[in-house]
Amino acid sequence: MFVSDILSEKGGLVYTVTPGTTVGQVSRQLSTRRIGSVLIVDRLDRVAGIVSERDIVHAVATHGVGALELEAAQVMTRNVVSCDPDDSIDDVMETMTRGRFRHLPVVRHGELLGLISIGDVVKARLAEASHETEALRAYIVAG
Ligand code: AMP
Repeated sequence: MFVSDILSEKGGLVYTVTPGTTVGQVSRQLSTRRIGSVLIVDRLDRVAGIVSERDIVHAVATHGVGALELEAAQVMTRNVVSCDPDDSIDDVMETMTRGRFRHLPVVRHGELLGLISIGDVVKARLAEASHETEALRAYIVAG
């Protein structure tokens, strides 16, 4: 199973905000949309960074309630790691584990195609394991 299989099921919708969006506004978006991160895009629609729940927790721990007035650009991670639609589920599990993050934009030839979370990856891996089990069972029964 590949990243493209996850995208064909969940679609390519990616929530983005501009660098000047406040942390308070980002928090409300994460909450109402029930998501864990947003991408920060510049005026040319290029990915400038990512803000996840963890960045907001860190900002609040550091600045207190004043963190909510900070801009996304002040708390985002700038070096965003992405994946390719042709990457396997095992590839992205390894990338997330090694990078210690739970979100990966999907990019091909500079074009943003979607964003997958660790929840999407676990769901796909479980489906894959279940298909493998079914195939083995059928093989044993047939034998
Ligand atoms: P997460 O586990 O996704 O909530 O993110 C943990 C930390 O990694 C936060 O500081 C995020 O900004 C950062 N992060 C999340 N996703 C990525 C990514 N794809 N590339 C680089 N950093 C990321």
